[in-house]
Amino acid sequence: MGKITLNPMLNIKKFLTALVLTISTGLLIILANFPSSAVSPPTPKLHYLPATLAQWKDSQNSGDYFSQVATTEVGYLVWSKFPVQVYIEQPINVSNQQAETWVKSVSQAVQEWSMYLPLTLVKKPEIADIQIERKAPPLQLSSDKKIPRARSALTTYQLYTENKVLLHRFTILLSPSQTGNYVVAAARHELGHALGIWGHSTLQTDALYFSQVRNPPTISARDVNTLKRVYQQPTSLGWTLKDNSKMNLSTDRLFKSKGY
Ligand SMILES: [Zn+2]
Repeated sequence: MGKITLNPMLNIKKFLTALVLTISTGLLIILANFPSSAVSPPTPKLHYLPATLAQWKDSQNSGDYFSQVATTEVGYLVWSKFPVQVYIEQPINVSNQQAETWVKSVSQAVQEWSMYLPLTLVKKPEIADIQIERKAPPLQLSSDKKIPRARSALTTYQLYTENKVLLHRFTILLSPSQTGNYVVAAARHELGHALGIWGHSTLQTDALYFSQVRNPPTISARDVNTLKRVYQQPTSLGWTLKDNSKMNLSTDRLFKSKGY
C-alpha cells in the first residue's frame, strides 16, 4: 500500500516522491523495503523545540516510552511549522446529529493535544497537514493471509517536497464502528502517532497504549514526556534536499500493525 507521485514535468533534480507508511496498533512489521541508496534525504538536524513542549514540566517524573518510538528513513516524524493544520472531514451517510457528535469528539482530541503542540482546525483538506476521516481502514490480512482482520483506526503518512523542502502529511482513518467515548479515544491515540509518537506504550494509562481499553485514558504525563523527547531528536523533515538528491522511482515501504 505504497504510493508514488512523480511529476514528469519537473526537472530530474526537483523530484517529487512520496511514500506511505501506516501504523495503527501493535508491533510494527516491515513488509517491504526499498534500497536505501535510492533516496538521499536531507541530513537529519534538530528543529527548535516548540514553546509548548519547552515549558512542559512533569513534576511527578512519570517517565516515558521513548524507547518504543520508531525512527524512520527520514528520522523522527516531527513537525516544524506551527500551528499544524488539521482537517476533520464531515461524515457522510449518517444523520446530521451523528455527524455533529463525531466531529465534536474528534475536535476534542485535537483540542487536547493542542495544549502540547500548536494545532489548528482548517476547512480545506488540500492545505491540511493531518486529515481525519470517518472511514473503515482496509482489512488487514493475517500472516497466513486467510483471515482478514478489521482495524478500528489507521494512521498513514506520506512524504512530499515543496520548494525542495522535505515535508510530510498524515491521513487518519477512524472506523465508523467506533462510537461514543471510543471515537475521542481513537482520535486521541491516532493523533499522538501523527504528532510524532510513532510507537506504542505498554501501560494502559497512556493514550498511546497499544490496545483499546474499556475506560480510555486522557493524554498522560508519560505521553507528553515521550512527545517532548521526540521533538528533541533530529529529523530530515522540514529541511532542504541536497542538490544531488536522486529521483526515486520505486519508493514503496509499508509498516503494518497487528491491529487491536
Ligand atoms: Zn497505535
